[in-house]
Parts: sequence; structure tokens; C-alpha cells
Amino acid sequence: MAVLSIKKNNRHLLIFIALGLLSCKTVLQKSDFAFAKNTIIAHRGAWKAKGVPQNSIASLQEAIRLGCTGSEFDVRMTADSVLVIAHDATYNNLEVEENTYATLAKHKLANGEALPTLKHYLQAGSTNNKHTGLVCEIKPSKIPGRNTFIAQKVLKMVKDEKVERYILAYISFSYEILKELKALDKSVVTQYLDGSKPPALLKQDGISGLDYLVYKLKKSPEWINDAKELGLTLNAWVANSTEDIDWLLANDFDFITTDEPELVFEILKKNSDKQGYKLVWSDEFNYKGKPDDTKWGYDYGFIANEEKQYFTDSLKNARVENGYLIIEAHKEKVMNKDFKNPEIKSWAKYKTQIDSANYSSARIKTEGIADWKYGRIEVSAKLPKGRGMWPAIWMLSENRKTVGWPESGEIDIMEQVGYDNDFIHGTIHSKAFNHIKGTQKGKKIFVKDPNDTFHVYALEWTPEKIDFIVDDVVYNHIVNNHTNTDKWPFDQKFHLILNVSVGGMWGGQKGIDDSIFPQQMVVDYVRVFQKK
Ligand code: MG
Repeated sequence: MAVLSIKKNNRHLLIFIALGLLSCKTVLQKSDFAFAKNTIIAHRGAWKAKGVPQNSIASLQEAIRLGCTGSEFDVRMTADSVLVIAHDATYNNLEVEENTYATLAKHKLANGEALPTLKHYLQAGSTNNKHTGLVCEIKPSKIPGRNTFIAQKVLKMVKDEKVERYILAYISFSYEILKELKALDKSVVTQYLDGSKPPALLKQDGISGLDYLVYKLKKSPEWINDAKELGLTLNAWVANSTEDIDWLLANDFDFITTDEPELVFEILKKNSDKQGYKLVWSDEFNYKGKPDDTKWGYDYGFIANEEKQYFTDSLKNARVENGYLIIEAHKEKVMNKDFKNPEIKSWAKYKTQIDSANYSSARIKTEGIADWKYGRIEVSAKLPKGRGMWPAIWMLSENRKTVGWPESGEIDIMEQVGYDNDFIHGTIHSKAFNHIKGTQKGKKIFVKDPNDTFHVYALEWTPEKIDFIVDDVVYNHIVNNHTNTDKWPFDQKFHLILNVSVGGMWGGQKGIDDSIFPQQMVVDYVRVFQKK
């Protein structure tokens, strides 16, 4: 994350230098101006909460008042070549391109404002504005050959008004317009809107970045890292739900275009209020294929708890697709590689006594790659469904190789068993508190629809306590009484494990329903936060 923010700052610095050099006169005339760093771009201005018209000067002024990083607006050209601010091709049932400004301007906006011209808009956007950049969308013309003319006119107007430094980006659905802008002035920032072109192509064609529909980016999440690696700016429209806004923030987008700037400010405030926690490790699963081997390894075969599945590393059992990690249990025969292996002197004899398993699944872990002492861990997941399922999100310490389990400790962030579908369990195990003795410290919480809805299963772990949390509700709060490591072996590093088990001592207590397969745990993200 540090590397990215340096890149981002450099980019802003370069933009400032470039814009600054181009507009020395402006620097002298206008008060200090620097783009706010909150990433929020008000889509057609900030209009919704205040009930002012979209693309009005009032909506621009509200975005400035809120302190958004940018305020977006749409530019079209009238029949008499006046650049106006209008979203649709028609304005009061008049084709903008086929009517003069005088004809169009007979109709006021709903708040009594005149139909804004680009000139007036730029003037309003550079008055009493210290932080809000202008995001200028140039609408493609229906008239052949007119696109480049409009691009030239817009750029000239911005230069004539000496407001280059206020322009955060030019955006368009027309590649032709964006290319023309770059040809006229290499320093302008351009973003393509259509969502059809991969980042590499934009880079090749000299476009500065992308501004795509959120759902298109969710369909091609690998474009996010591609764009970052290519140094393209990342913007998305229109993010109006908490879910989409959270997703864009977690993926470190440069800009978030929204009809709800107030909501984004609220979410940002809430995030910074998370008591100084900083993201230190995450997998957003924005790639395809096997789980990232710089983050995850596997456990293989039969492991424990008399579970009936055989863990493999095959794509069938663990893979990343469509922006999600999928751990999938199948009903299939898998040969047991450890059958009659005399070298395995495990307490779990069944590992060598059974020649094959009737189910396959996966168990992935960060062991040997990443582990943490204290922090806040969040996993957004949908759980498998059916009798015999036993998905888990949990943690172990390396120390078990030395002192053994349960002395080494175990933290179960989320466990659920299929025969009791709607309850989520959060538990700690230690020498003094463990399930062999029936003294483990666990509690459960009712969760509505854990199978088809993503819920955030979280842990907040400090030297003083461990909290188990579902969707921000703490349902198991365990205090460290600072007695001894028999009770509290949690002042050491733990790694993370995600698995879907079939049957076993707990999941299999009521048998396995063989009609349910395959079954998946779908994970949207895993995030680890720590205090500095
Ligand atoms: Mg627009």
C-alpha cells in the first residue's frame, strides 16, 4: 500500500507541476488550490441530498462546499457552437445540437438557473474553491466530424478562462475526443468511460486512466491491478451503495464517482475512526486461477477431526474467479496417498487406515507466509449449505509444532455446521479451555441467510481481549486476565486458515446429505488491520 500511495502522490505532484507551469498567471490571480485527497467525485455535482438540479451551478457549488475531490459535469455543443452543461441529448424536448443557445435558454433549470454554459460553469468552479477539481465529461456528437471540433473548443475555453489547474480530468465515451485532447495538450488527464477496453490498450493509446461502471470492474477485477501497474488513474461510476463504496475504497481507487458524496464522506470518517487500524495484509481476489501463492499455501489429505473430505490443491476445490475465492467441496472418490504409510505415526490412525475418501475439498492457509500478533481481521464470505458441511475461518500458531495443540492456542473466527445453518460460532481454544475437555470459550450468534448473502466475519484481538464480530456486532467478548499461557496463549503470532470440511466430529454429527454437492464457501475478501 505504501508503494501505491507514493506513486499516487508523485502523479499528483506531476499534475500540479504541469498545470502550474501552464498557468503561472492563474497561480498569481487565484488563491491556493489543491485537489482534496478524499477521492470523492460528485456525479453531475452534489445534487441529490439538497434537491438541486443535476449539472446546475448550484450542484457544483454544493460539491465545493462539501470539499469533494471532484465535481463532474456533462458538456454538449449547441447548433450555434455554444458549449453548454447538459446530460441528455435533448433539453426540454429540444435537441441540444440542433438548437441555438438562445432557443434552449428560454427554458430555465428547475431551480430557476439559466442553462449553464461551459464558460459560466468554469467561472463558478474557479471561484471560492480551494479543493474541488472539475471533471469534464465531453459527450460525443451525433454529427460526423464534430467530436474533434468540440474537444478543441472545450480545451480553448479552459485555457481562455485560465482554469487548467482546476481540471481534474476529461472523461468521455468517445475515444476520438480523448485522443484529440491528448494530441492538443499532452498534460491533460483523460479517462475513458465505456468500460470495454482493458488497461493495456488504454495505456497503448495514451489515455491517462479509466472510469468504468462498478459492475464492469467487478466482472474484470484483474483490470484494477493491471491499471495500477501501468500507472493509469482508476475511477468508477456510479457508486451509490455502501457495498460498492467499500469495495472501491478497499481496492484503493484514485476516485469514486457517486450521487451520494455525503455517504462516502460518512464511510471515510467511520473507517478513520477504526481506532488507528491500518490495512497491513489483504487479498481482494482480483485475479483468476489458483489462490495467490505469495499469500496462500495448502493442507493436504486427511487432517483431523475425523472429517470425511480429502484436501487437495486442485482448481476444482480452490480457485479465484469473478473477484471471489471459491472453496468447493465435491462428492467424489479420491485415493488416500497416506494409506498404510508406516511413517505416519499420527494420533489420528484413520489417516492411514482408509484407502480413499468420498469427498474432496480444500484448506488454504497463510502458514509460513504471513502471520500476525494482534489486529483486526475481516473476512467477507457466503457459506455452503446442507447437512454435513463445516466451513471455517480460523487461526493457529506456529508454536504448536513445539508445544503441541491445544497449548499453542486456536482462534476460530467463524465456524458453522450445516445441520444448524443459521448460527455462527466464535471460539478460543487453549490448554485450559478446549473442546476435548468441553471448556472451550465459544459463543454463537444467529445470522440471517449466511448462504446467499455476504456477511463480514471479524476478529478484534488485542493484548487485553478477543472480540468475535459478525457484521460489526460483537457476540463473544473474551477478556485476558493475564494469568498464564495455559489460559491465554494468544500473545504470539497466528496464521490464517480457510476451509470447507465435510462431516467429522462436529459437522458430521447428524450425518452427511449426499444430495447437496457441490457446495461452496465464497470469499469476497480477507483483510488484516493492525495498529501502528
Ligand atoms: Mg457524466
